[in-house]
Amino acid sequence: MIVKDKEFGEVIVRKNAWSRSIKFSVSTSGRLSMSVPKYTSDFLARRFLETNRKAIREKLPIKDPSEQRARDYQKKVLMKKAREYLPYRLEYFAKLYGYSYNKCRLSHANTRWGSCSSNRTISLNIGLMNVPEPLRDYVILHELAHLNHMDHSKAFWAEVGLHDKRYKEHEKKLKHFSPGL
Ligand SMILES: [Zn+2]
Repeated sequence: MIVKDKEFGEVIVRKNAWSRSIKFSVSTSGRLSMSVPKYTSDFLARRFLETNRKAIREKLPIKDPSEQRARDYQKKVLMKKAREYLPYRLEYFAKLYGYSYNKCRLSHANTRWGSCSSNRTISLNIGLMNVPEPLRDYVILHELAHLNHMDHSKAFWAEVGLHDKRYKEHEKKLKHFSPGL
């Protein structure tokens, strides 16, 4: 089976009765190849790609410097989009729900969507521009709630729930995306 991926191109998926977990390697043709348990669906194979994008990227040799250039360009475009959107969205929700923060930083860390530091600086990952709006808003509301609760206590989640009733679903769905580029 071949799965088409926007970043890795054609990915070879080999169903293997003996494999118990999904493993990936690079085939001699330079294509990404996955070995998956026999009854793995297309959907699961794709989801695995999505959630392991960064780890896979690190293992794959970069074949062509133009790919690297293309990625740098993508990052630049994303940064521009983020700069024109995220600080304003943050400000909008802060005003709406009466939060005051110090400043908004844009990050492109590979591991987290956002953070809130004790000096009330909120960092938002530019990769948020690639996730559906409800999930993006959830991350912003999550970080704003950290201004009042610097932990993930019950009180913290209660506050998140006040502004995003579907936060549990959004938190779960966000795991299908990776903040890395
Ligand atoms: Zn948090």
